[in-house]
Amino acid sequence: MASIDGYPFEKLHCLTIADFHRPDIESLLSLGEHYLDLSVQKSPARSILAGKTLVNLFFENSTRTEKSFEIAGRRLGADVINMAIAHSSVAKGETLLDTAATLNAMNPDLLVVRHRASGAPALLAQKVSCSVINAGDGMHAHPTQALLDALTLRRAFDGSIDGLRIAICGDIAHSRVARSNVQLLNMLGCEVRFIGPPTLIPADADRWGADVFHDMKTGLKGCDVIMMLRLQLERMGGSFVPSKREYFHFYGLDRAKLLYAKPEAKVMHPGPMNRGVEISSDVADDPEISIITQQVETGVAMRMGILHALAEAQDRRAS
Ligand code: ASP
Repeated sequence: MASIDGYPFEKLHCLTIADFHRPDIESLLSLGEHYLDLSVQKSPARSILAGKTLVNLFFENSTRTEKSFEIAGRRLGADVINMAIAHSSVAKGETLLDTAATLNAMNPDLLVVRHRASGAPALLAQKVSCSVINAGDGMHAHPTQALLDALTLRRAFDGSIDGLRIAICGDIAHSRVARSNVQLLNMLGCEVRFIGPPTLIPADADRWGADVFHDMKTGLKGCDVIMMLRLQLERMGGSFVPSKREYFHFYGLDRAKLLYAKPEAKVMHPGPMNRGVEISSDVADDPEISIITQQVETGVAMRMGILHALAEAQDRRAS
């Protein structure tokens, strides 16, 4: 099932968008679409992961991502184990590789990892024999967020996002969401813009595949989609903005700045939102404009699609 035009999805891991070709992405998105349809129709999913064990290993806090992998795994019939890091041997000083070796000895099939260090999931993938899914590593990548964002956009724009102009705004420098999204959105034919203060946009960001703007008025011109990002204070070594109030004044999305974009523009945010810092509540909560809740709903279906594709690829390798 996880194939597009006879091109089978054969990847063992989901670590970065850059590891995938367009047909892999299309396979994943169409599986996500399939599970989204099932959840809209309230039909039960097939037990595609029956007999498989999924371990959630989150070294950084998470609400949406961890829970949506848990729900996705359970809906597909997997045994799901959430490692409580604070109560595990990690809290006693165990290294990442020792944790990996211990988990590997228990033979999980799917390991979902979030870590504050960029590259940690890729390192784990070399040490374990199961599939590893990157649920966010440092400032590096968040491929499942980019996939669910693309699927949310396809739904919001009647199936096709080719040619859309998308502004990703705010703290680009510390954002793994921005890095994964620019790769995927470029691959899907979108025009991407980064908007933010010079302190929050890396000097080489124009080489990532986006045009860079430092003011919302010019940056948002003609945009179909505005993706707001959280100020990632936990990743900032010093002060990157004078004050949150001033940041909101220049870069926070409110009704007045929304007028710079196309009249029918949609607003996204990967969550968690800092209301009144990067986005105003009346914009975030307006169902005519905001597709933030749809991102969360789509997240479960998209993760079901990713788990399904990886499990099928594993079974094909084993047979
Ligand atoms: N939830 C996203 C992430 O884990 C965005 C954020 O935390 O601001 O990167």
